[in-house]
Amino acid sequence: MKKKAIVIGSGFAGLSAASFLAKAGWLVTVLEKNASPGGRARQLKEAGYTFDMGPSWYWMPDVFDRYFQQFGKVTADYYSLTRLTPSYRIYWPDGPMDIPSDLQQLKLLFENIEPGAALQLEKFLEEAAYKYKVGIQKLVFKPGQSLTEFLDWQVIKGVFKLDVFTSMKTHVHKYFKAAKIRQILEFPVLFLGALPENTPALYSLMNYADIVGGTWYPEKGMFSIVDAMHKLAVELGVTFLFNENVKAITVENNIAQKVTTTTKEWQADVVIGGADYHFIESALLPASHQSYSAAYWDKRVMAPSCILYYVGLNKKLKNILHHSLFFDVPFEPHATEIYTTKDWPKNPLFYVSTPSVTDDTVAPGGCENLFLLIPVAAGLSGDTEALRDFYFDKIITRMEKITGQEIKSAVVYKKSFAHSDFVSAYNSFKGNAYGLANTLMQTAVLKPSCRSKKVNNLFYTGQLTVPGPGVPPSLISGEVVANEVVKHFGS
Ligand SMILES: Cc1cc2nc3c(=O)[nH]c(=O)nc-3n(C[C@H](O)[C@H](O)[C@H](O)COP(=O)(O)OP(=O)(O)OC[C@H]3O[C@@H](n4cnc5c(N)ncnc54)[C@H](O)[C@@H]3O)c2cc1C
Repeated sequence: MKKKAIVIGSGFAGLSAASFLAKAGWLVTVLEKNASPGGRARQLKEAGYTFDMGPSWYWMPDVFDRYFQQFGKVTADYYSLTRLTPSYRIYWPDGPMDIPSDLQQLKLLFENIEPGAALQLEKFLEEAAYKYKVGIQKLVFKPGQSLTEFLDWQVIKGVFKLDVFTSMKTHVHKYFKAAKIRQILEFPVLFLGALPENTPALYSLMNYADIVGGTWYPEKGMFSIVDAMHKLAVELGVTFLFNENVKAITVENNIAQKVTTTTKEWQADVVIGGADYHFIESALLPASHQSYSAAYWDKRVMAPSCILYYVGLNKKLKNILHHSLFFDVPFEPHATEIYTTKDWPKNPLFYVSTPSVTDDTVAPGGCENLFLLIPVAAGLSGDTEALRDFYFDKIITRMEKITGQEIKSAVVYKKSFAHSDFVSAYNSFKGNAYGLANTLMQTAVLKPSCRSKKVNNLFYTGQLTVPGPGVPPSLISGEVVANEVVKHFGS
């Protein structure tokens, strides 16, 4: 008889874990509280517009290709990809700058900002390529259960080249003097995790992903990835039950005996928690079976949360790119508000995705689809309608002024999403958007463990455990935990 697994949650990590376990011969059921798969990457269809609710940057295409290949498929079996060129635009205080997708052009751009920077970029990317290779091919696949996993010759030999003990800030500053170049290279770690001074320089592998790997767009949006992974899981025999809100995991003799939803009870040989780790621990398990205390969770450094706006315009905008970063105000005060003082920001940097520039299926003809994101500290309270309207007005006014056109008067659809929505939609800890920050003390074995320390057959997957936040890491997280299950419970 096949062994049975229950996966809680159908985000990328849950979809991935379910598929790898089904491939290994398990009978897998996914219980999802929402009406559709995808978790933070769900889709919102309203008033003729199709919005991706979360991720919008398709980076590391090799990770997605590898994922599908493991099931005898190729990415193109499910969706096609377009490389965006330019990759994105940054609006600086003194005007816009397009970041070319072509490396030679990027070198020219850097050289114009800082003489000698083209050569420096070559050297910087050489190191970043090494980190990407070792990081993405080796480190991210370690389940983080023991330090001995890292007794790997390539890792030991290259430990200094991996720059685990240098900060991203020191690393970038060693190569470049110009503030703009520094900010271009620091933004990927900043938006997804922690301050560059608190992020290991190992993460310059993200610059390799950005500059060499490229920024891509999957046909019909990021939800195409969810759709593809869901279809593949169903093909592999995984059963999905939506609107099944898990309320408890019953443990006897250190074994998870059953999972209770609002409608039913489920039994399985193994349970994999793909919902937010903190929620599963603190809300579904009795205190005696939680691996981590409330004090432990309180000490975790969270990646930012965000205020999001899904906006439909009844016209096309002039001269706008798919991805725009508004770095038109000083960065330091906003960074301090996100990471240090944890306040609502006074004058935030923000990001706008306009997928209708690339894809005419996501908005009615002649209209524009906007996704606006303001990074803010996790754990803030008071995300009222009035506060959201205040920030919307603030950033749209800036966007109008900077891009030289009316936007507010063209808004025909608008929905916001902030901390309290992250909590109610995904049971997110402190309303976090991207899980735990990528600090040294929250890396690998120092992350919440992918196997419960108290319940033998309970495992965890997703952005709060190994390897960390982001779509590619979440796919890998599912694979890593499925391998751990097979290692301990067989196929
Ligand atoms: C706004 C935003 C922008 C982002 N941008 C990018 C980007 O551009 N590129 C990138 O690579 N990454 C990006 N990320 C990060 C990336 O989206 C996440 O790291 C990833 O989607 C997390 O997947 P997950 O499976 O760990 O969690 P989730 O997607 O949160 O999945 C968890 C699932 O568990 C379900 N669940 C919760 N509680 C229960 C319960 N009690 N019972 C049953 N089910 C339950 C939830 O409904 C959800 O479906 C972004 C994230 C956000 C929020």
